[in-house]
Amino acid sequence: MDLTDFGAGAQYIAGRRTRGSGEPFQVVNPADGSVVEQVALATTGEVDAAVAAAKAALPGWSRATPGARSEALTALAAVLASASADLARVETAQTGKPVKLATEFDVPGTIDNVAFFAGAARNLEGKAAGEYSGDHTSYVRREAIGVVGSISPWNYPLQMAAWKVLPAIAAGNTIVLKPSELTPLTSLMFARACTEAGIPDGVVNVVTGAGRTTGEHLVAHPDVAMVSFTGSTPVGRRVAELATASVKRTHLELGGKAPFVVFDDADLDAAVHGAVAASLINGGQDCTAATRAYVQRPLYDAFVAGVAELYAAIRIGDPLNPHTDLGPLVSYTHRDRVAGFVERARSYATVVTGGRAPEKGHDGTDLTRGAYYAPTLITGAAQDSEVVQGEIFGPVLVVLPFDTDDEGLRLANDTPYGLAASAWTGNVHRSLRATREIAAGCVWVNDHIPIISEMPHGGYKASGYGKDMSQYSLDEYTQVKHVMFDTTAVARKDWHRTVFGDR
Ligand code: NAD
Repeated sequence: MDLTDFGAGAQYIAGRRTRGSGEPFQVVNPADGSVVEQVALATTGEVDAAVAAAKAALPGWSRATPGARSEALTALAAVLASASADLARVETAQTGKPVKLATEFDVPGTIDNVAFFAGAARNLEGKAAGEYSGDHTSYVRREAIGVVGSISPWNYPLQMAAWKVLPAIAAGNTIVLKPSELTPLTSLMFARACTEAGIPDGVVNVVTGAGRTTGEHLVAHPDVAMVSFTGSTPVGRRVAELATASVKRTHLELGGKAPFVVFDDADLDAAVHGAVAASLINGGQDCTAATRAYVQRPLYDAFVAGVAELYAAIRIGDPLNPHTDLGPLVSYTHRDRVAGFVERARSYATVVTGGRAPEKGHDGTDLTRGAYYAPTLITGAAQDSEVVQGEIFGPVLVVLPFDTDDEGLRLANDTPYGLAASAWTGNVHRSLRATREIAAGCVWVNDHIPIISEMPHGGYKASGYGKDMSQYSLDEYTQVKHVMFDTTAVARKDWHRTVFGDR
């Protein structure tokens, strides 16, 4: 099926693609600056229309049986699978990510997520009903919250749409999703696929617009009952403020600055390969990417040399070439922001390799028209410096030495973020200590990056709160109601004496 017939419609409201009547906007391919789609952004009126559509669809969808919702999600997995190649191609065109990543990670990961939530929709759990007071039967209902307003970032647009939409609708909510305006196309394809799969009109709506206008209007909307947000920590703070003013439930997946801790008994080859993959995945534009490698002194020099050698062999080029390892970053503005971090670091640290925009690709492609940036390795930075503390969100790895285990773990925890981390060691006690003491929502041992639909993803500290994927995320999109039945049929109940009268 062809989900790519955008027809300049960047809004998906009540089961229909519509144009939007706001500002014109170009979705740009960062590989060469070409226009992928010319769209019109949403006005606040279109946000209102999308919320109204979601509100109208809520009674029917929230009362659909779990089996019916599960069946629709099973059909959605099949629709997405049939459109896999288009989804991968469009994801690559709007983000610049290598098509091998889109094909082997983004698209199958999304389909697996859909399949997981098709099963999870039928598996909500809670406390057993029973006579806890002796005089009443109590039971718990897990109910949908209502219309969910979701906001997603540009780094994994399709997967982020899935992570937001799936637990919400599996639990019976309806949703209005605002993707990043830089990369709305696969979110629109996802919404259209929902309609093709038989999910009723209005259950999944997409509005494409700027954060300050469309995003804030959605978050503050009185008919939106819950806000789920994935993006940077400063914007998450703003979203939380707006949502708090109208007492909405919030779910915030924010920035990261993941440490990669290599103890002196680690398998050096595994750590070097792991660091290269974990720092360069998606051009380093991954909230869990390895950004700070702390390497125990005996392995430090060999680790730096090993990463530098592999960085030099990375094939930068046209992201549509299946052999390309690293495509452009998402935009010219973002590439310049990444380069700014590296340029400022030159005054206080050493740029071992990279630190420049490459001109020729491995396949001979002229890279000067794209938002490319070479893999960049930095050493000699102080722990409190900008490159160690700030979220660069690019193909940049900073390596620092440490001496004792205490020091390595202390440094790993020494940023405001706490999304993900890894520990590299063959020693079971060291690995157990690291998994216990590192304050992050995910700690890998001897690997860094893999995620899985059954397991939760979410942050500690300034990386936010709330979990995506897994049964935990389904819980977040439901509210718990206690229902209590009197079983005595007595008019003058014993407990009344605590308020009036005597025994
Ligand atoms: P961003 O915070 O700039 O934007 C995220 C979304 O928020 C976009 O849709 C944007 O339009 C919208 N937005 C911007 N200002 C807004 C406002 N005032 N009100 C409402 N919405 C607003 O982030 P980005 O640059 O798109 O993405 C990169 C960031 O996302 C990084 O910080 C990264 O770590 C984070 N991220 C986190 C996770 C996670 O699971 N924790 C996953 C992916 C990305």
